[in-house]
Amino acid sequence: MTQLHISTQFDSGAIEVVSLEDPRNIQVNIRKDSAAGFAQWFHFSLQGAAGLAVNVKFLNAGASAYPKGWEGYRVVASHDRQHWFRVDTTFDGHVMTARVKPETQCIYFAYFEPYSWEQHLDLLASAAASPHVTQECLGHTLDGRDMGLLRITDAQSSISLAEKKKVWLIARQHPGETMAEWFVEGFLERLLDPDDAVSRVLLQRCVFHVVPNMNPDGAVRGNLRTNAAGANLNREWLEPSMEKSPEVFLVRQKMLATGVDLCLDAHGDEGLPYNFVVGSEGNPGYTPHVADLENTFKTTWMASCPDFQDEFNYGRTEAGKANPTLATNWVAQQFACLAFTIEMPFKDNAQLPDAATGWSGARSKKLGASVLQPLLAVL
Ligand SMILES: [Zn+2]
Repeated sequence: MTQLHISTQFDSGAIEVVSLEDPRNIQVNIRKDSAAGFAQWFHFSLQGAAGLAVNVKFLNAGASAYPKGWEGYRVVASHDRQHWFRVDTTFDGHVMTARVKPETQCIYFAYFEPYSWEQHLDLLASAAASPHVTQECLGHTLDGRDMGLLRITDAQSSISLAEKKKVWLIARQHPGETMAEWFVEGFLERLLDPDDAVSRVLLQRCVFHVVPNMNPDGAVRGNLRTNAAGANLNREWLEPSMEKSPEVFLVRQKMLATGVDLCLDAHGDEGLPYNFVVGSEGNPGYTPHVADLENTFKTTWMASCPDFQDEFNYGRTEAGKANPTLATNWVAQQFACLAFTIEMPFKDNAQLPDAATGWSGARSKKLGASVLQPLLAVL
């Protein structure tokens, strides 16, 4: 029998090997973020197990950041790193076990379909080929990566720049929530499609500012929730600093320069098997006008995309009880505008499940493309 081997030496690789003696009892531990206590993201390859009945046991699953995330969850796997499928997975409250018979000598496992830094650079490059796109580097992360921004508008439109609505889309503040960058990819593909009437009108009326990856260091390090300094970026919006959270500092600075009329912040949720949004109703500055915009946005999105729903979510935050350190709350309060956190599932959409893939990169892309319709409705 070929010797079994596990590797994490690649972009977003993360796992700790406990035992590789027996393919039916491979034991691993989920690793913590590189500078913080959150343990949830994993991504690794297993070599030497072709045709064998493999059980991978995640021994510390019950002690991870969100143990409820493993209830009803199935591990994602791939033989070719292009097509990802779900494997039979159980969770007994302590140990999570994934069962699979690898078809080839190397199989990859991940918490969710990965989105690598190379893919990120490909995404920026392909978007920059459009005449409507300007690519900008806002500054650098603690590990020295570019904070890339895409500015997108139809410069030929008769509407002046000052009159155009300033729309922001940011994603992956929590770097392990890779569905968020898949969402951005789908959004950009449709927005830059010259045959799409909705996109053409949006580009005439709006200037889009898109940050596809808010946390490049955390993404490459294989973190679930934090950057190189261990900061949870979605708790940094009130007082970001170049020492601890340059990603937020730089993007916030740009927002203050451009102004914001609408902001979407894309995330993934470990627990709930649904797509939903979280608004800013707990802000002191929340108004009936913003509530109307929220309703129009949600109603239009539900009508145009059955993968979006408004029944299952976190519930409403009491008036005045909003956490002002979250991007959505800070933006909505600062600019008196509509802002949503978009949550996609790590598991599946329970209302439209897919047994083979669960919620996936491709489905996140479709959802990202579909958000242009509610954008048109509110603008
Ligand atoms: Zn998140």
